[in-house]
Amino acid sequence: MTAQSVAGAAEPEAVGPRYEPCVLLKLGEIVLKGRNRQQFERLLHDNIRRSVRDTGVELRVWQREGVIVLRVAGADDASLAAETAVGVVAERMTRMMGVARVCRAVRVAKDPEAATAAAVDLMAGCSGSFAVRARRRDKRFPVTSAELAIRIGSRIQQEYGYPVNLRAPDTTVFVEVDQREVFVFTQGWPGQGGLPVGMSGRALALMSGGIDSPVAAYRMMRRGLRCSFLHFSGMPLTGPESVYKAYGLTRQLDRFQQDSRLFVVAFGMAQKQLASSGAGRLQIVAQRRLMLKTGAALARRLRAGALVTGDSLGQVSSQTLTNITALDDAVSLPILRPLIGLDKAEIIAEARRIETLAISELPDQDCCSLLTPRQVETRARIEDLRRIEARLDAEDLAEELAAAAQEHTPGRA
Ligand code: ATP
Ligand code: MG
Repeated sequence: MTAQSVAGAAEPEAVGPRYEPCVLLKLGEIVLKGRNRQQFERLLHDNIRRSVRDTGVELRVWQREGVIVLRVAGADDASLAAETAVGVVAERMTRMMGVARVCRAVRVAKDPEAATAAAVDLMAGCSGSFAVRARRRDKRFPVTSAELAIRIGSRIQQEYGYPVNLRAPDTTVFVEVDQREVFVFTQGWPGQGGLPVGMSGRALALMSGGIDSPVAAYRMMRRGLRCSFLHFSGMPLTGPESVYKAYGLTRQLDRFQQDSRLFVVAFGMAQKQLASSGAGRLQIVAQRRLMLKTGAALARRLRAGALVTGDSLGQVSSQTLTNITALDDAVSLPILRPLIGLDKAEIIAEARRIETLAISELPDQDCCSLLTPRQVETRARIEDLRRIEARLDAEDLAEELAAAAQEHTPGRA
């Protein structure tokens, strides 16, 4: 079975003399994955369709060798509406996990003259120097890549007089000869890289209203984990502000995967129970263990294979090596901590880039700020924690909290 038939894509029809705007996606790592490649491509195609579902754009997805071609139904007239639709699609694709580069291209007939005319059109109104880079995915094309580049370059020069600069051009015209058509483009944007969401399975990300946890979730999504989110509020001992933040953060992260689910647990009373069981200096670590146990209980229902947290080694007193060991002891599920070796400044830069920082910086009363002991234990002993947990049947409590979690779907309305 070919990749095309897997994707259910129709065979391309011949293109007319006019050109059609489209989007080309360059795949990075996915191409290297040999045997599982078809599964990866199918997932990526599904994710692509899902990501434009709400736009009403009717998308056609073609898999080529290392490239995905996205065509918008009705865009073959190169009208303004078609350009806009293609622009929307291109913008969405810059947030697609598994895509290395997004290019807005035009698709023209497989003929050197058509390619040249399209390239000349694309270069109208440019300034500075330029270069043409041509390549053939179909080696049967009658003109070699070098000849094609020279032919197109000299026509552009004749037309506009722009200087050629092969080393460091201001604008590069890319010409790619494919099996049935030629793609010409100048514009490209970096994609997210990584692997398509879902390829590595599912995880449950523990998300506070803070800066770190959304970045941690993003990083694991980029490694192919479809993430659901779990937030603990201090309610009824605090207001709902942290829930609004978790909702807003999930919404931002949803741009990278769609159909995200946020579960909210009112944790205030459980925190009180821990305090009255004599947690003392262990209050914070005991809370974190109860969060993880609740996460594990919920993960079982969601069939998620891992928990994700935003821990970074030594960043706060609950994140010493000893305490992290005590946290790992709370559950048998793997706890993924993608930020473990990052500095705060690096995490903040990434939060800014993925546009979660502004929400994380909004004020709220974090549940962890409730009932904080005067001094936080940095060397928590596992036996002490287990003893506290035995007093309040922590496993049962975690099951109850997970069962009572409220589900939200903060994706695009
Ligand atoms: P963050 O910036 O993500 O809040 P942090 O640096 O404040 O992290 P902690 O408060 O020790 O560190 O939390 C470490 C991790 O525990 C968080 O990244 C998150 O995964 C989880 N966590 C902490 N509080 C909550 C909460 N209220 N709800 C859900 N998860 C939480
Ligand atoms: Mg925090």
